[in-house]
Amino acid sequence: MPIFITCDIDWASEEVLADTFAIFEQYNVKCTLFATHDSEVVKNCNKNIFEVAIHPNFNPLLEGKSTVSANEVIDKLLEIYPTAKGVRSHGLVQSSRLLSLYKQKSILYECDHFCPYQKIEPYALWNGLLRIPYNWEDDIHYLHEKDFGALGVNLLSDDLLIFDFHPIHIFLNTDCEATYLQAKPYYHDYKHLKEYRNTQKKGVRDALITILEYLKENQTRTTTLSEFYYQFSTKA
Ligand SMILES: [Zn+2]
Repeated sequence: MPIFITCDIDWASEEVLADTFAIFEQYNVKCTLFATHDSEVVKNCNKNIFEVAIHPNFNPLLEGKSTVSANEVIDKLLEIYPTAKGVRSHGLVQSSRLLSLYKQKSILYECDHFCPYQKIEPYALWNGLLRIPYNWEDDIHYLHEKDFGALGVNLLSDDLLIFDFHPIHIFLNTDCEATYLQAKPYYHDYKHLKEYRNTQKKGVRDALITILEYLKENQTRTTTLSEFYYQFSTKA
């Protein structure tokens, strides 16, 4: 059962990131991070557990609020994380122009294709980049008003499962949109943010723990997405 876990950092505070990283360390389960900004916690993360990929934000460009080109947006992140081999853009912005830029910058794989609860297969794009779709995302689970007591995918199946979590939702144990919206004004105010953690219902943190417990119980060896890329490329 090939299971991969990814996290979109989405400008979470250092405390919130440290909270998420400690969980993966505790279970010794690998995770691919898609980083949005310069963070000491991300830069100093345990590289035996975490791979750092990039999560560029093209939204200001789409909204006409930016004088910075897509090329510069990508370069800025690669300056901070020069060993990044993968990309997922914030908001899943896709274009052949962007894919060409990624290729030019020696990115190996992209993960902008989300197929909720569906079967997924990676495939090589025309320029050699590997597209790795993913099929579970924490905020989409609550936007669908699904119960976090069930993942909506079968951990026991042989299907490829690629999960996407956000440290803010892991920290808040977000169970529904209202929990997040109440907490959102305190996104970077750790002291107040702590008061908005959901303790009443099953939430995102519980879902993550369910997966990690499953992997631990089955002694599953986990890998990050660049390791997956190399396995796929050797097979192909
Ligand atoms: Zn994002």
